[in-house]
Amino acid sequence: MCGIVAYIGKENCRDIILEGLKRLEYRGYDSAGIAILNTNTDDGEPAVEIIKEAGKIRDMEALAVKSKIDGKCGIGHTRWATHGEPTAVNAHPHKDCTGKIALVHNGIIENYEQLREELKSQGHNFLSETDTEVLPHLLEKYYDGDLLAAMQELVKRIKGSGAIAAISSHCPDEIIGARIASPLIAGVSKMGNFLASDMPAVLKHTRKFLIINDYETVRLTEGGVEIFSRDGRPVNRKPFKANWSIESAEKSGYEDFMLKEIFEQPYGVKETMRGRLTDGEPGFEESGLTCDQIKGLSKVQIIACGSSYHAALIGKQVIEKWSKIPVEVDFSSEYRYRDPLVEKDSLSIAISQSGETIDTLAAIREAKSKGARVMAITNVVGSTIARESDSVIYTHAGPEIGVCATKTFTSQIIIMYLMGLYFGRLRGFIDKERYREIISQLNMIPGKIQNILDRAEELKKIAEHTYRKSCFLFLGRKHGLPAALEGALKLKEISYIHAEGYPAGEMKHGPIALTDTGTVVVGIMPLDSVYEKMLSNIQEVRARRAMIFSIVSENDGSIHEYADYTFKVPETPEELYGIITIIPLQLYSYYIAKNLGRNVDQPRNLAKSVTVE
Ligand code: GLU
Repeated sequence: MCGIVAYIGKENCRDIILEGLKRLEYRGYDSAGIAILNTNTDDGEPAVEIIKEAGKIRDMEALAVKSKIDGKCGIGHTRWATHGEPTAVNAHPHKDCTGKIALVHNGIIENYEQLREELKSQGHNFLSETDTEVLPHLLEKYYDGDLLAAMQELVKRIKGSGAIAAISSHCPDEIIGARIASPLIAGVSKMGNFLASDMPAVLKHTRKFLIINDYETVRLTEGGVEIFSRDGRPVNRKPFKANWSIESAEKSGYEDFMLKEIFEQPYGVKETMRGRLTDGEPGFEESGLTCDQIKGLSKVQIIACGSSYHAALIGKQVIEKWSKIPVEVDFSSEYRYRDPLVEKDSLSIAISQSGETIDTLAAIREAKSKGARVMAITNVVGSTIARESDSVIYTHAGPEIGVCATKTFTSQIIIMYLMGLYFGRLRGFIDKERYREIISQLNMIPGKIQNILDRAEELKKIAEHTYRKSCFLFLGRKHGLPAALEGALKLKEISYIHAEGYPAGEMKHGPIALTDTGTVVVGIMPLDSVYEKMLSNIQEVRARRAMIFSIVSENDGSIHEYADYTFKVPETPEELYGIITIIPLQLYSYYIAKNLGRNVDQPRNLAKSVTVE
């Protein structure tokens, strides 16, 4: 999910593309490559040349410079692996069998297995483990003298997401692109024309851009950019002028990466669900578990740290409820020191955003040494945890730059929901109607998250009124509890204010002693089966003169009597409130931290990937 750059024009393209890729470095990547229609050939005929390498762009650059390839037309890619480890072979560009077509792709091809089988049976040869490699072979299959027409056929065949750019020695004077769900823009200039995932890649050369929309294809020549609709008709689109600096363009105009990533969640959540809700049925072939193994599971043991631990708590609730498998959740850093029991027929699930969290890795090793079967859930393909586990489920949330987890957290929750439904259906414990209802509601989650994001200003105002308080208690019960714990963690991480997440019913056993006029109590209290209990708990702290901010459902009629501030979230089945209620808490913490002048992307004392015990 990283980035592509393409250029065709008057200038030599190698350095332009390398420079563009470096501008996309901020998005995070694991390998990189370029393909050029090289004119430094013996006969002067342009030939497709590819240079690619795992790791840093500068390593790939050194190879490209040494090779002396150059020309006026080329494509480049920084990869953030989704299918196949980050190796040089899996890096893009990928070629067809003839070596005359090269292609880069940013996104996920959901139906790649089926396409790969089809193409193999027609004699195509595959070299990598990526989903992307089906694309150049599809172009080869459909090429009949017109690469644009072949791309238009390709777009009809693929399910999934993609920003695509292709070149070919068949037609050295053009670059053909396409977009399905992943971002793609065209840059227009006198020196030539560009395609890129994001503006910073080419802002040095142009500020004139054209947006490419879903299912459109595009032809770039030295002299122009032509866009075509899904049915192949030319589209007349006016360019717009971008006034952003490179720095603000990297953040798509948001002040911080954290804010950008919060706003990316509707898309991130869709990417996580992509291909896992085929025809409305959740599927997890990646789990490596057979139906009989799932039916026979005696226990699930989830190990995780930080935000991943909170996602695990949501997992516990839904897996137990829908599939009736007992679930235990442990902090990774505690698990291995307590001589854990690994039961026969149990499954251990390890959750880690980076796939490198050392405590979780150590816990996995401990579990495996006791005979456990370990399934990892991580965002980083080929990470150590992915490699050391028996199977792995990737969250596909895209790279996260801000140190504190936002979009990777919600993607972990989605995996927990899908897994609960999957286990529940196979084991036959979830009521059929409820199952259908939850699936259809899951599909509405991106829209509901968007509804909350559209009202960010309301949270900004509440933050402005409350940021000077010195103590925050986040209270919840049942499905509201993991959100309360995560909300408190967000606030601590980025604002450095003392905050605690607590089960609301436990307040009277101690923490209520903390409440006074300097305390803000944030109540997570959607209209669910424990709403009345939450109301009583909120009255208890209100009686001790705490300030009350409540996250409630949109139809809540009574809360205004008890709360100083409220924020309404769209209604959803109670099991799904975990994901809905965390969104306003992320924004609220963000705005409090900004009011205090904190660096939210790099909070003090914290690192993105925790590789020390
Ligand atoms: N799914 C493709 C791969 O794993 C593209 C990933 C990307 O967007 O960087 O190679």
